[in-house]
Amino acid sequence: MRIAMISPEVTPFAKTGGLADVAGTLAVALEHLGHEVSLVMPAYRCVLRGGFALEGTSMRFSVPLAERNEEGAVLKAGLGKNITVYLVRADRYFDRDSLYGTSAGDYPDNAERFVFFSRAALEILRHNPVDIAHCHDWQSALAIVFLKSQAERYPELASSHTVFTAHNLGFQGIFGQSEWPLLDLDRIYFSPQYLEFHSHVNFLKGALVFADKITTVSPTYAREILGAEQGFGLEEVLQGRADDVVGILNGVDYGQWDPAVDPWIAERYTESNLTAKRSCKRGLQGALGLPARDKTPLLGMVSRLTSQKGFDLVEKIFDQLMARDLQMAILGSGEERYEEFFRRAAKRFPKKVGVRVGFDEALAHQIEAGADVFLMPSLYEPCGLNQMFSLKYGTIPVVRAVGGLKDTVEDCDPEQETGTGFVFGPYEPEALMAAVERALQSYGDKKAWTALRRRAMSMDFSWERSADAYSNLYQQLRS
Ligand code: ADP
Repeated sequence: MRIAMISPEVTPFAKTGGLADVAGTLAVALEHLGHEVSLVMPAYRCVLRGGFALEGTSMRFSVPLAERNEEGAVLKAGLGKNITVYLVRADRYFDRDSLYGTSAGDYPDNAERFVFFSRAALEILRHNPVDIAHCHDWQSALAIVFLKSQAERYPELASSHTVFTAHNLGFQGIFGQSEWPLLDLDRIYFSPQYLEFHSHVNFLKGALVFADKITTVSPTYAREILGAEQGFGLEEVLQGRADDVVGILNGVDYGQWDPAVDPWIAERYTESNLTAKRSCKRGLQGALGLPARDKTPLLGMVSRLTSQKGFDLVEKIFDQLMARDLQMAILGSGEERYEEFFRRAAKRFPKKVGVRVGFDEALAHQIEAGADVFLMPSLYEPCGLNQMFSLKYGTIPVVRAVGGLKDTVEDCDPEQETGTGFVFGPYEPEALMAAVERALQSYGDKKAWTALRRRAMSMDFSWERSADAYSNLYQQLRS
């Protein structure tokens, strides 16, 4: 099949979260299955200046935006064996410091930027028709809306099927009604059956209405989003499409995330050579200015610092944690209040808490390898990658039983010698603390801990299985 992935982020070109890993790695895994795969993404500044081998093309296009037309060009890059990455170039939109905004907030023209991107993606596909157009998140959702509601404009794509993956219902691309003209769509679509959402325009909702199939990134999350608690106001739309909603668990790129081959960590290790993990722990303690303490349990976190990730629970149990003999290694960036909280925590407890505010790929790997326990107490978690990385690194995850965390971590039962981590249910500080206590207790039992680590490391969430599931879904659409 000819498959195009249209995504606002693709590893290694541009990444703010798991979506980038998914788009890049899934494309490569689908290519391994024999499909002809291409990717479409914006040519952000980090792409233009990132040292990638970029190739110019003669392709220019012009797309309608409100009353005018906007022009753009296309660059090409490569991925995998033979994947073409089409980069939509329009420097006034994408040659900026960040992908979506600054610490002061989102860029005010995000609606326009991603209307433009979605239209541009369809222009590229018109010249390179595909069987499947697979769009990711609100930034590319409108490509599906335009293709389905204005089919006469895209005759070359008349036989293309569409798949939309919602990576996180918390981000929908909701804009004021005044942005509606940018979409150049018939006014009938600004209504509650289509893109209207409480008098606003909702890009993601458009894709949920128009896509042939909707996927999300874990089976549990696919069920959760049908309910009010996790549907973010779109649960009724999703219920109406329930037969077309599929949960496919993300995979892990073990070429990048495997302690046996990881170039970023102090010493490589495998299940049968866990002593080398100690060097990684020392390396991590050194990197964050913590004293080297082999026996003290080290708790790691790598995350966007947002309330979705359960940081309010961490805040609430923080003093209890500090009363214990443990250390913490935290890497993240996001909401000011959490950045400030952890900066202050590191100052208050310099021997116990090491913090780096920012985005740091190397340190993310070093925390996975060097920590003993990994915390992910998320309020909601569509899939989550870090807990799967943690399992591979023998760094025992403490997670809340929600979304993909529930699908990937099995609660440890020391009596039965089963399980791969520590799982708690209620979104309450006491429940998180109790799970941490269980982890610390287990850590104190060397034999049980080693066995637990081995069980965790033997889990396999490779992309092949997920790529097969996507491939079957595409096939269903074509038959
Ligand atoms: P989400 O997509 O909700 O942010 P995931 O767990 O699915 O969460 O994916 C997060 C990805 O981003 C992982 O690859 C993780 O290692 C990475 N990541 C998150 N924050 C940082 C950071 N501050 N520095 C480096 N990598 C980070």
